[in-house]
Amino acid sequence: MSYDPAAILEGVPTGLFIGGQWRAAAGGATFAVTDPATGMEVAAVADAAPDDGMAALSAAAGAQAAWAATSPRERAELLRTAFEATIAQRERLATIMALEMGKPVAEAAGEVTYAAEFLRWFAEEASRVSGRFQQAPEGTLRILVSKRAVGPCLFITPWNFPLAMATRKIAPALAAGCTVVLKPAEATPLTSLAFAQILAEAGLPDGVVNVIPTSDAQPVTGPIIQDRRLRKLSFTGSTAVGKALLGEASQNVLRTSMELGGCAPFLVFEDADLDVALQAARAAKLRNIGEACTAANSFYVHESLAEEFAERLAAEFAALTVGPGLEPASEIGPIISEQQRERIVDLVHGATDDGARVLTGGEPIAGPGYFYPPTVLAEVAPGSEIMREEVFGPVAPVTTFREEDEVIALANASEMGLAGYVITRDLERVLRLTERLEVGMLGVNVGVLSNAAAPFGGVKHSGLGREGGAEGIEEFLETVYTALPA
Ligand code: ADP
Repeated sequence: MSYDPAAILEGVPTGLFIGGQWRAAAGGATFAVTDPATGMEVAAVADAAPDDGMAALSAAAGAQAAWAATSPRERAELLRTAFEATIAQRERLATIMALEMGKPVAEAAGEVTYAAEFLRWFAEEASRVSGRFQQAPEGTLRILVSKRAVGPCLFITPWNFPLAMATRKIAPALAAGCTVVLKPAEATPLTSLAFAQILAEAGLPDGVVNVIPTSDAQPVTGPIIQDRRLRKLSFTGSTAVGKALLGEASQNVLRTSMELGGCAPFLVFEDADLDVALQAARAAKLRNIGEACTAANSFYVHESLAEEFAERLAAEFAALTVGPGLEPASEIGPIISEQQRERIVDLVHGATDDGARVLTGGEPIAGPGYFYPPTVLAEVAPGSEIMREEVFGPVAPVTTFREEDEVIALANASEMGLAGYVITRDLERVLRLTERLEVGMLGVNVGVLSNAAAPFGGVKHSGLGREGGAEGIEEFLETVYTALPA
């Protein structure tokens, strides 16, 4: 191993961050954070108990009124300071992330930039919140519409983008004047804790953001969700957990934002530029080791191009270097855990049992860590499990189609509707697909669509609400109507 986890983690906090203080968990418990490239423990992090969750909510609720009363400019400037500090610490944050999550450092640095953009974007949006003033149509009233902060928020984030999923929620919340309790994923708490340190150093008042890692989420988050002081729940993660959380949130009639699973179709039409298709496919499939909810999941390629597409994609995948994210040569890091890797193994075996042909990859890599090679499967049956289930790994299953209507029906059969990708040179077709594909986001001749200025989110079982863009801050604002005499 060419890196030293202890050196990487020097100065990274491992406590809970509550009310501006770093503390141990109520019972003193800790849990292990492991390096997925080795399976070895790299840190012991404070394991929040239900009492700590309540303390964090009390801190957020206590800080709410004063934070909402600050000027938009003051909040914007704090976010701007945090943006600059995050960029200044890009290498450090990227290295921490590569250690606990596994992605290559260069890719992790890209995530830091993307994550920081939410701080910059919502710094700019903070001063743009406004309402309206109008006359009732009958002339009987004057109507004043204003916006105010929703109130204390609970954020539950996943491990795949440890920093960006936190800033995408925290930045608009702070811009709107909301306070926050963040429950990061148990696999990747260190990045969030390092970010909390950045916020504190940027001058964030005590209690405005609180971070409570825990190894057992529900007993900690459940009581927070039931507490009347909480006003909003924003979650990014699996559809199964999202549904359970929506059930819990209903008891307290919380505002919710849900970024849930995806199963993005990747459609290559007969008029596609194959070079563009391959470049986009590689990005949409292998970004973040395939562990992204926007990852291309099922490749539908027009029958006239399918063979060449699959063979060229396989040749590109086969040439990539798989290894620890902290080794400079690595292009594809490990899968987050043995359990996730087992899921990928089962899906690929299921596909080959149904007649799919492995063009490259197809079996896990032996040795320490949870490595799985970039894999291309050809002749996959359109309705097979690997086309319907979110793979969350570097596997591209390819199937063929003939007609546009046929492939739209195949894509729309999914209960998910987050992202979709289309490779075509036909503008009319792009417009038809924009209207007919049941997705919240559509990439046309591009493989990466995330951007802080764009509304990220899905339809159907992929979730509720949007993050980023002008829409993102609205999720943290309540609309108030004041009726006045004419
Ligand atoms: P993934 O499959 O990406 O790990 P999960 O939906 O399991 O997605 O996890 C996303 C986040 O939700 C993590 O922070 C995890 O700890 C948290 N989580 C999982 N189950 C629950 C639950 N029942 N209540 C609250 N949070 C949960």
